[in-house]
Amino acid sequence: MIPPAPSLRELSCADDYDPDSLPVDVARAAIRRFLRPVTTVERVHVRAALDRVLAIDTVSRFDVPAHDNSAMDGWAVRYADLAAGDTTLRRVGESFAGKPHAGTVGPGETVRIFTGAVMPAGCDTVVMQERAQETAGGVAIPAGAVARAGQNRRRAGEDIRRGDAVFRAGQPVRPAELGVLASLGVIECTVYRKLRVAFFSTGDELRALGEHLRAGEIYDSNRYTLYGMLARLNCDVVDLGVVVDDPAAIERAFVAAAATADVVITSGGVSVGEADYVRGLLAKLGDVLFWKIAMKPGRPLAYGRVGDAHFFGLPGNPVSVMMTFYQFVREALLILQGRRDVAAVPVFKARLAGPVSKMAGRTEFQRGIMTPGQDGPTVRTTGGQGSGILSSMSLANCFIVLPADAGNLPEGTLVDVQLLEGIL
Ligand code: AMP
Ligand code: MG
Repeated sequence: MIPPAPSLRELSCADDYDPDSLPVDVARAAIRRFLRPVTTVERVHVRAALDRVLAIDTVSRFDVPAHDNSAMDGWAVRYADLAAGDTTLRRVGESFAGKPHAGTVGPGETVRIFTGAVMPAGCDTVVMQERAQETAGGVAIPAGAVARAGQNRRRAGEDIRRGDAVFRAGQPVRPAELGVLASLGVIECTVYRKLRVAFFSTGDELRALGEHLRAGEIYDSNRYTLYGMLARLNCDVVDLGVVVDDPAAIERAFVAAAATADVVITSGGVSVGEADYVRGLLAKLGDVLFWKIAMKPGRPLAYGRVGDAHFFGLPGNPVSVMMTFYQFVREALLILQGRRDVAAVPVFKARLAGPVSKMAGRTEFQRGIMTPGQDGPTVRTTGGQGSGILSSMSLANCFIVLPADAGNLPEGTLVDVQLLEGIL
């Protein structure tokens, strides 16, 4: 049984809890305590399981591979026959992949064999075809053609043994898992249902695509970065559009969002001043904390519950939206999706290619471009680091993570970086 979620108020008793300057790690740990993963499951075809999370253990009903088989094209032999040095064996048959040799192979005999073909009874070793020569008198195998008994033979069960729990519940399904599931003969698997995530933008200045921009207005880009980041995490998204800065309209949007979704995400409207009425509204609709995270970009962040849904109130600035999503929401969604052992985003080391200015007292996530180098990777910033400069996110291939206690850093400093893309 999952214990009931602790009350958000309990947090305020923690020693390191200061809502006006909350360290990134403390906020992340606090959020983790409130997450209750989905439990509903569904059966899907193996292909549809891509990017889903397995909800039950997968136990193999047989060995993979099921039989000892050849790793090479060559000759299946009895190793003992090769002990005396150069030898010539008699060809007694063939073993093809999917068409095994029927008989047993005796002393002095050999079977032509191909990669993936079942090892004939009596044979224990395969001689590579390049090391043997077939002549009218038989198959000549020189001394030293194989180094040891069992060479070039794949063992039954060397990949997976019958009865093994190949995957545990909580395993994310990637292309490799699809292949392993297929090799086990799995046609359908049990996965957790998808997370439903509803989001909307707030701001009188925001226009939807297709609308005409008047002076001072901008297009709403946050719903597009959010859509992209959520789609990458394979969430079902519910886009509730732009909501004007009006308490009644925002309340309606929250009620609609919480009624349909597991998670509600908003952007804008949580900074000082704006937060005042949103605060009151959310106190009525749920239980939400308003934090100022000691980080840049992305200082204001609201977190809690609206109705039965988890709620993240992200800042309005486009870079801050993406950064707070990657640093807080992403991990939370992975946990809510049912993934076990969700690891922190891995951090690598790189040398600064130039000096970086930084204010002590907050963690900074600067957008960086990392380049491999002879003496290890180096990293430079993408240029202007304002939280409205969304193009910096597009230019970057990494985040440069500068710790709270650091100030300005000279060229050559070894810094932490988080990579934005892997080999996928
Ligand atoms: P706010 O947090 O609402 O004070 O917004 C901070 C800044 O982000 C302002 O410059 C807003 O115009 C901008 N902003 C807020 N929401 C969006 C959005 N959905 N798309 C683009 N910019 C936004
Ligand atoms: Mg606003």
